[in-house]
Amino acid sequence: SEPPRQQSVTVLGATGSIGTSTLDVIARHPERYRVHALTAHRSREALLAQCRQHHPAVVVLGDERDAVWLREQLSQAGLAIEVRAGEESLIEVASDTGVDVVMAAIVGAAGLLPTLAAVRAGKRVLLANKEALVMSGALFMDAVVRHGATLLPIDSEHNAIYQCLPPEHRGGLSRHGVTQLLLTASGGPFRGWPRERLATVTPAQACAHPNWSMGRKISVDSATLMNKGLELIEACWLFDARPEQVQVVVHPQSVIHSMAAYSDGSVLAQLGNPDMRTPIAYGLAWPERIEAGVEALDLFQIARLDFEAPDEAAFPCLRLAREAMQAGGTAPAILNGANEVAVDAFLNERVSFTGIGELVGEVLEALPVEAGDDLEAILGADARARQVACERLEKR
Ligand code: NAD
Ligand code: MG
Repeated sequence: SEPPRQQSVTVLGATGSIGTSTLDVIARHPERYRVHALTAHRSREALLAQCRQHHPAVVVLGDERDAVWLREQLSQAGLAIEVRAGEESLIEVASDTGVDVVMAAIVGAAGLLPTLAAVRAGKRVLLANKEALVMSGALFMDAVVRHGATLLPIDSEHNAIYQCLPPEHRGGLSRHGVTQLLLTASGGPFRGWPRERLATVTPAQACAHPNWSMGRKISVDSATLMNKGLELIEACWLFDARPEQVQVVVHPQSVIHSMAAYSDGSVLAQLGNPDMRTPIAYGLAWPERIEAGVEALDLFQIARLDFEAPDEAAFPCLRLAREAMQAGGTAPAILNGANEVAVDAFLNERVSFTGIGELVGEVLEALPVEAGDDLEAILGADARARQVACERLEKR
């Protein structure tokens, strides 16, 4: 058969956990993929190493001083790679006409504009950066349709649900006989802990996830269950679901990555080892399948699968996220902005673990919800949420 045309890929957030897994999959298929651009915020050493291995045409760093350093290193190494700096350049490499696929793997709100630029340029967008969609849901999904982008979810739960839904699932779940989405959660490192004990949790404890190795921000989100809350919002936008149609199921083994329940009683699940290279390979190759370097699932070794309900009294972030989605408009952007400040403060030991949810709750109470259908309103809500969160932190 004919070999597939080689696709040109930009990896936003290339030095992170998702970025490095993406490059691992790409390197297994040099006939299919070539790297156009790699971006990193401050990790210039890691980006230099990636330049040596993957030979991108362009790289982008956050700061011009790091760019100067990298240009010098690359010239010494005899590598002709263009080095740029700043957000404008992120937007350029995400929307460049020569690019087919954009992996959106920057963490947090910083990824919104570059990811949206890829969508508006009609790219195949592999979405790991859930915060971008949480903040701008309606606008983002509207842009996908308007600009003919192909949006493939990389978050393992959403990738699983995508695989369990009919190929054309837009226009409301019930139209396709889907009654519920079952979003699985590992429960994080503190599953079963009472609230009192959670107050003493340290950043190192929160970042040691039992099943997945991830960046620090998402690791803390997994521990507070805010990650599952963000994922609930993400699922509503991706699959046109109402919050009540998404049930969170704690499943400590992280083998079932999520499920879709149908009106005839069928429940379809996607299973696999907890390795992000599976959803990444799915997104890269869809609708085909390619080798991802992931070991085959050994069910005899796993032996059992357990399920329980989430403890929303001990982990209030899940409830806060659901309520923000129900409130609509800019509420999810406020939730996300406050959470980013709170997680950063926790990682810098300026707020306790339980203080994260308290702070997010306070910010949501303090700020009015507005219509969230234009970028200005969304960015404004994000900025105000961060400001109020910082003020409250000062007072604590
Ligand atoms: P990470 O912290 O490991 O990597 C983040 C990447 O973004 C790095 O390359 C970093 O240089 C870059 N970056 C950070 N701040 C930036 C800024 N202000 N501007 C530009 N670039 C910036 O994070 P990660 O774990 O790879 O997660 C990336 C995204 O994928 C997050 O949105 C996360 O929620 C999502 N995600 C991650 C996983 C996982 O297993 N790690 C799973 C599902 C979803
Ligand atoms: Mg996930």
